[in-house]
Amino acid sequence: MTTLRSLLLHIAPASPDDLGDDLYERFKNEPDTLIVPVVGEDSRPVGLLERHSFFLHMAAQFGRAVLAGRPIRLMMEPNPPIVEADADTGVFMARMLAERPSDLLQGFIVTENGRYLGVGTALGLLQHANAETQRRLAELDESSRQLSFANAEARQAQAFMTTVIESMPAMVFVKRADDHSYVLFNKAGEDLLQTSRRTVIGRRETDFFTPEAAAEYEARDRTALETADPVVVDESRVRRRDGSEVLLRIRKIGVHDSAGRPQFIVGVGEDITARRRAEAQIEQLAHYDPLTGLPNRALFQTEFKRALAAAAGTGDALAVLCVDLDHFKTVNDTLGHNLGDALLEQAAKRLKRCVREGDLAARLGGDEFAVLQRGFPDQAACARLAHRIVEAMAEPFEVSGHQVVIGASVGIAIYGDHGVEAEDLLKNADLALYRVKRNGRGGCHFFEKGMDELLQIRRRTELDLRRAVQAGEFELHYQPLLNLQTGAVSGCEALVRWNHPERGLVSPGDFIPIAEETGLIVPIGEWVIRRACEEAALWPDSVRVAVNISAVQVRSAGFIQTVVSALANAGLDARRLEVEITESVLLLDNAANIGELHQLRALGVRISMDDFGTGYSSLSYLRSFPFDKIKIDQAFVRDLPRDKEALAIIRAVTGLSASLGIVTTAEGVETEAQMQQLRENGCSEVQGFLISRPACAADIQRFLTGHEAVQRSAGPPPVVLKTTRISRPAARPRARRTGSI
Ligand code: C2E
Ligand code: CA
Ligand code: CA
Repeated sequence: MTTLRSLLLHIAPASPDDLGDDLYERFKNEPDTLIVPVVGEDSRPVGLLERHSFFLHMAAQFGRAVLAGRPIRLMMEPNPPIVEADADTGVFMARMLAERPSDLLQGFIVTENGRYLGVGTALGLLQHANAETQRRLAELDESSRQLSFANAEARQAQAFMTTVIESMPAMVFVKRADDHSYVLFNKAGEDLLQTSRRTVIGRRETDFFTPEAAAEYEARDRTALETADPVVVDESRVRRRDGSEVLLRIRKIGVHDSAGRPQFIVGVGEDITARRRAEAQIEQLAHYDPLTGLPNRALFQTEFKRALAAAAGTGDALAVLCVDLDHFKTVNDTLGHNLGDALLEQAAKRLKRCVREGDLAARLGGDEFAVLQRGFPDQAACARLAHRIVEAMAEPFEVSGHQVVIGASVGIAIYGDHGVEAEDLLKNADLALYRVKRNGRGGCHFFEKGMDELLQIRRRTELDLRRAVQAGEFELHYQPLLNLQTGAVSGCEALVRWNHPERGLVSPGDFIPIAEETGLIVPIGEWVIRRACEEAALWPDSVRVAVNISAVQVRSAGFIQTVVSALANAGLDARRLEVEITESVLLLDNAANIGELHQLRALGVRISMDDFGTGYSSLSYLRSFPFDKIKIDQAFVRDLPRDKEALAIIRAVTGLSASLGIVTTAEGVETEAQMQQLRENGCSEVQGFLISRPACAADIQRFLTGHEAVQRSAGPPPVVLKTTRISRPAARPRARRTGSI
């Protein structure tokens, strides 16, 4: 509503007593003033003067002369339209037009509570009326425009919604609440269920699904209509036209009209088949080793704990076997990771074949495997399984054309006897495994009390050894080799000792394996070569020096350079140096290692095969490299002359060696009878306590001089030396006689 207040003009009123001339002047000076209100006492309007009629009065003949000096009260309209400011303009105008249309043309006075406030004119009213009409028109226009806009928007929105629903990667459908018939079914739904919307719209679930499935789906519809929250089915297995199945995640929402009556069920179905498959893969990755397909450490531990909990209830037997491949690191380092991986895969297959159903074989990492053995009758059954594994792994592996022999060691811990907690049992099986490794690998061992102590000792030794390398606590002892034909000492083998500040002389069997594992053998071995060359340079020219070289050293960078520089520094002829290697250097038929040996040989250095007959030695090694000497392991000599089998083997080796021009040395010769038999069976050299125990450099110098003197006068028998005893006898691995020889 617009009131008159909005269109009033504030015109200064005149008094009824003002003279005609005053007003004449005023109208003349204010050309825009059309009316002047006349206001009496207390601001109450009493009349109105309109410009036009006033001028008519004044302009009449004698008009001015008569009226100029008279009060305007005589000239004013005494009953003008008066209206309160808050009156509605439209109402006022309508009333005036009906009752006093001509008065309206003059103008009117606007009051507030009866007191003068301003004036209004017909023009003002017209302008107002015009503005109002304009506004209405504009309003009308705007709303009609909005209406069409809304229509277009609605159309657009609908098109948009359709596009969205159609291009949604999820199935979208709408069903009627009353009869559950489909009213909407999108493209994704068509693709997903392999059906067209034509066959779906207007029909119900019962038309395409089994009665049970349809009943279940419609029951969900009802739940959706009853609850405000969406109904979510995490995994709905739906059979498609072609018989295949999809996994859907379905959300259903009930839609009601404004009165709360159920109208529709809107559903969204997402195909989660691929996601579930990916999740299964992730699950597989989380619990299985991708290379071998065996359960991984995480799954093994879970299963182990579960089995332990079960065993605690039922009293069932349970054992854990830690399986570690021997020499695997060497394969990996020398033949490359691809071959290493291929080997692990094969090893895993063999392991799986060894265990029975109900047992669990797992890969714990690297070349570490574990087996959980369940429900066995006695300890012997565990040992049998362990032996089966050791034997299976001892068979040569065929990897990309390479024949690789590795073997395995197994440590066993039994639930109850060796612990009750998973961690303890695993740790103890690992300690037992460590014992096997220390004993030369390729076997099995049960956990025993005190094994952790051994491990502590090993750790201490490792730390101690690092310090010893810095402090230079090593020394060399030498043991002579006697030529059986000439009776001359052909050479001496350098045997390292660790002169420990507290433990005294430590034998190499107690620290060489640790030095090899930790790589400390490289600096220790370098020292040995240099020292042995320096010492040998002081011996008669006919006496060679033999140095033991670990596989780790041969592989280490700069090995050949070390040998060359040791010879040069000592001024020793390369032909006086012998290098003793074990089969581990050749184990992998490694071209690089063999290359190194050829380089050494090209310098004039002789190469001996040490400990022949132990481990996996086979005569085929003799073909892979032109050895100058074979040292028959003391295990074959120990039981001579009674052991006929050993003798047969010795005879085979000496026979073959002789035909190949290779020298044979028998180790560990302690008796005359042994020496006699070895001589008779074609052995070229002997080494052992019978000739001399290993002795320090000064003693060996004396021995060599003495021996030369004795030989010059009378020939053998050789001098047997009194030597320094070392703190513990060497823990030599039990030699195994393999059928391969
Ligand atoms: P090996 O090369 O087979 O050395 C021969 C071992 O047999 C020596 O033990 C020696 O003392 C022992 N022996 C010699 N004659 C007899 C005998 O008549 N009867 C018995 N029962 N034993 C005898 P040692 O000195 O304890 O050395 C043990 C092993 O440690 C060596 O076996 C060798 O494999 C290794 N070793 C020694 N010195 C070095 C070295 O400087 N470098 C490397 N890499 N290994 C070494
Ligand atoms: Ca040796
Ligand atoms: Ca040996």
